[in-house]
Amino acid sequence: MSEYKPICSHCGQVHFSDTEFDTQKEANDFAKLKCKCPEAQDWQEDTKRQKERTKRLAAAEESIDNLYEFCKNRGKTLPEEMKPHMLECAALVYDDKINQAVLQFSKFKIAIKINQKGIIAFACSFTDTVKMEQ
Ligand SMILES: [Zn+2]
Repeated sequence: MSEYKPICSHCGQVHFSDTEFDTQKEANDFAKLKCKCPEAQDWQEDTKRQKERTKRLAAAEESIDNLYEFCKNRGKTLPEEMKPHMLECAALVYDDKINQAVLQFSKFKIAIKINQKGIIAFACSFTDTVKMEQ
């Protein structure tokens, strides 16, 4: 038996386990993951959501890199300093704070939104049109 007993920090219920825990916190985290009390279940949901968000944003970062590569292969260089802003917009879109973001700078236009598969999608277009207005 481990010297640390898993105790749910929400309801105080003790959960038994054969696992050896190194710290009381580790034991309590185990209890929180197992407990069926409403507070622990909320916490479990929250943790799951956070994990999913981290995963999605990591995927978005990868998509941004691909986008840079895509543009580079076509002789267009996206400014490096736009990357953090694109990721920031991706987070806002994922958190449903905004429906979509459209970033326009020099001759680039980047649209960021959640596609039908629920994935953060980036669409880039650029124009070389020379326009003169008088
Ligand atoms: Zn509990």
